[in-house]
Amino acid sequence: MKAENIMVTRSAMPPFEEYMDMIQPLWESRCLTNMGRYHQRFEQELREYLGVECVSLMVNGHMSLEMAIQAMDFPSGGEVITTPYTFISTTHAIIRNQLSPVFCDIKLEDYTMDEERIEELITQKTVAILPVHIYGNLCNVHKISEIAKKHNLRVIYDAAHAFGEEIDGIGVGNYGDVSIFSFHATKVFHTIEGGAATFSDRNLYRKLYGLKNFGIFSEEVISEVGLNGKMNEFSAAMGLCNLIYIERNIEERKKRFLHYKKQLCEIEGLVMPALNMEHIKYSYGYFPVLFQPEILGKGIRDRIYDKLRQIRVYARKYFYPITADAECFQNRYRDIPLGNARYVGKNILVLPLFPELSYQAIDKIASIIRNECMTSGSIL
Ligand SMILES: *Cc1c(COP(=O)(O)O)cnc(C)c1O
Repeated sequence: MKAENIMVTRSAMPPFEEYMDMIQPLWESRCLTNMGRYHQRFEQELREYLGVECVSLMVNGHMSLEMAIQAMDFPSGGEVITTPYTFISTTHAIIRNQLSPVFCDIKLEDYTMDEERIEELITQKTVAILPVHIYGNLCNVHKISEIAKKHNLRVIYDAAHAFGEEIDGIGVGNYGDVSIFSFHATKVFHTIEGGAATFSDRNLYRKLYGLKNFGIFSEEVISEVGLNGKMNEFSAAMGLCNLIYIERNIEERKKRFLHYKKQLCEIEGLVMPALNMEHIKYSYGYFPVLFQPEILGKGIRDRIYDKLRQIRVYARKYFYPITADAECFQNRYRDIPLGNARYVGKNILVLPLFPELSYQAIDKIASIIRNECMTSGSIL
């Protein structure tokens, strides 16, 4: 293997000339942002690709989530049932809207929110459920809808990891009142920085359109406390170029995902993503592996993380610490047992996965993991 750094991901780039051709007209028009031509075209193409009724493009995934929550006009102090097993953005978006996160533990099978534990967390103050399709593993959307309906709650999905995924042919962005996607450079699909909210309520389109433009609804009418959350034309152009290659990229990811599965099979104490995807179109965004310390001994995850770094492979401890344990809001919210989320956070490692990752690199990574697990397992 060449001595180059292998990061957990690598941005997919369209052919240089295609992007150049795309942005050249921007020099003529001088319309660089403010919902220009590419913005409109990209919203249209995404509606088709994601199979959703409405798409509102945003400056990034985080602001998409913040504005989606803001658009719901929840009373301040309301409680939002959410998962602590996610990127910190999810929890921040709740708190920055003057709402309180109520953490619900996750399932060990797929690390998504345990829908069986949602109802016991509902109080008079509960206003919404905010689950995350973590690693692209889809939540139990049907059960969550049922609970939300029964208790009259809104559902907002953080679908940052689930671009292009489908359940029985239905785009994942159709579930809940609104779903948000991230088009950050590190994600399966990117616009350098960017994001979007998807939903079916046309009124929400108008509302978000205003919110992302400082709350300005017409030249002389400012009717919401908005902010600057718009996607610019260069990002929209990148999105249009990348969209041409997305299926190919997902196919390349899938091959590497399956190669990892083969190279890491039958290691006792190592848990790989299950591939139980009969009804699911999956995007193969991540390859998380969990090292069971009860079989492989304590410290195995961190030892493998260090060993990989020695050969310049930068796997990531996503998601450790869980967001409930972040320093900035420790002990400030309802204390709920989160045994599964903490266990997974302590023992998981996300391995490099991207369309250009070489199979030799995967073999090398797998052999280091296998050796370390074999020695650790037998010492125990
Ligand atoms: C990346 C990510 C976000 C934030 O998206 P940005 O585009 O980086 O702002 C939010 N939630 C999850 C789960 C993410 O992975």
